[in-house]
Amino acid sequence: MTRATVSGVSVPTQILLAGKGVDSSDEATFDVHDPATEEVIATIADATVDDGVRALDKAVEAQEQWAEFTPRQKAEVLRAIFDEVTKRTDDFARVMTTEMGKPFAEAQGEVAYGTEYFRWFSEEAVRFPGRFGGAPAGVGTIAVTRRPVGPVLAITPWNFPLAMATRKIAPALAAGCPIVVKPAHETPLTMLLLGEVIAEVFDRFNAPQGLVSIVPTTHASDMSSTLMADSRLRKVTFTGSTPVGKVLVKQSADNLLRTSMELGGNAPFVIAADADLDLVLTCAMQAKMRNGGEACIAANRFLVDSSIAEEFTRRLTEAMEGVVMGHGLEEGTTLGPVITAKQRDRIAELVKDALDRGAVATVGGEVPEGPGYFYPATVLKDVPADAKILTEEIFGPVATVSVFDDLDEGIRRANDTPFGLAAYGFSSNTDTARKLAQGLRAGMIGINRGAISDPAAPFGGIKQSGFGREGGTEGIEEYLDTVYLALQ
Ligand code: NAD
Repeated sequence: MTRATVSGVSVPTQILLAGKGVDSSDEATFDVHDPATEEVIATIADATVDDGVRALDKAVEAQEQWAEFTPRQKAEVLRAIFDEVTKRTDDFARVMTTEMGKPFAEAQGEVAYGTEYFRWFSEEAVRFPGRFGGAPAGVGTIAVTRRPVGPVLAITPWNFPLAMATRKIAPALAAGCPIVVKPAHETPLTMLLLGEVIAEVFDRFNAPQGLVSIVPTTHASDMSSTLMADSRLRKVTFTGSTPVGKVLVKQSADNLLRTSMELGGNAPFVIAADADLDLVLTCAMQAKMRNGGEACIAANRFLVDSSIAEEFTRRLTEAMEGVVMGHGLEEGTTLGPVITAKQRDRIAELVKDALDRGAVATVGGEVPEGPGYFYPATVLKDVPADAKILTEEIFGPVATVSVFDDLDEGIRRANDTPFGLAAYGFSSNTDTARKLAQGLRAGMIGINRGAISDPAAPFGGIKQSGFGREGGTEGIEEYLDTVYLALQ
């Protein structure tokens, strides 16, 4: 297997086809960059559409062999993957920081969070949902069981290079489904390393290698449309932007594929007059600055009661001034670069539009000199309602603060978005907190909480943020068909 050394860690650079490293069938390659230095860190095989089809061939074969593993055996395989990834936390974190930019401590956090899906679903693998009962007419028995959906295509984004895929791989395997993973071309190395670890575990347990293939490619659209047109594929699970999600849902229609769509967000963060501002500040920094703001559940819009707006803005500004921007592997860095020059320029444009319309930057707002795709921690106050930054996903370290006079108005503005992934509400009063919990419209609502992701909880959105849930007891359902057995 050909390899590259990335920040001291040896990573495979070939496609992982059913446990084996292979070159692209047309021998093409592409470069992966460090967004903090703009340097090429590895050159990897660029899978062709045919390579994707070969991965599906292997997946189809593997499903039958995997069905012979008992739920307990499947659970043990998943648990072993959790253990192996955990042992290699720092290797994964170094690679992830180098290809994606996030600070090393956050990358370690993502490894812990991402591999937890293997442990969680190792526990779910032995608890398949089902039911059994008499028919109302008194004749016969209704038994409801679940069967694996079939081969899955997973398409994942660059912002959480490990966790966005483990949320799909772990439940698919637990449910009995093989999976072909197409990682984002910006961050394929973490996934190739994971593929190698999974292949080692499969070897140890004699599990069929075709269960997992990793096909990095620059031909995402051609590969996914070809695989989705193949009647052997039964499911597509996607995490990424809403426009691409819509294209995939349309393409899924011909074969009536099962789909899960984890799409974009525009999370409001509503702060009532009686909120505990110390707690609010801690949570605001988590909800805004985790992953440098490049998170689908990142707080996009801070909506604050006018009586505390000034103090909140001042304290948020101070906290953002304390952010240390740099290479994620440097000691002390708390904000890495954004992923590409294009993303940085998009953020700069959103900020410029807001400033042109009358917003004021209390900190940040200027693109620093390169190299590296850096954008500084920024707070914008007095952001007018027509600023683009309030309607588009920022995906960067920029906090917008707007003010309301009445909580009903705050909740109405919070919900005034086509998205519905996450929402946050803060109050120290039980009745107000309940009002926020009931009033906010999103798939996930944090009440007095700034960090809400948990492998044991169902992650997912409503409206233009998509459908389907990852994690929790709900996560495995996405990979299971319901079968009704009518018994005597
Ligand atoms: P993106 O949609 O551009 O890309 C995501 C993935 O889709 C990548 O692997 C890409 O190669 C692939 N892709 C792009 N065009 C495609 C096409 N036509 N056909 C098939 N595949 C295609 O998104 P991105 O910029 O990489 O990621 C950021 C977006 O992801 C944000 O909108 C963010 O909110 C969203 N996101 C959502 C969640 C969630 O769980 N809801 C989690 C993380 C990120």
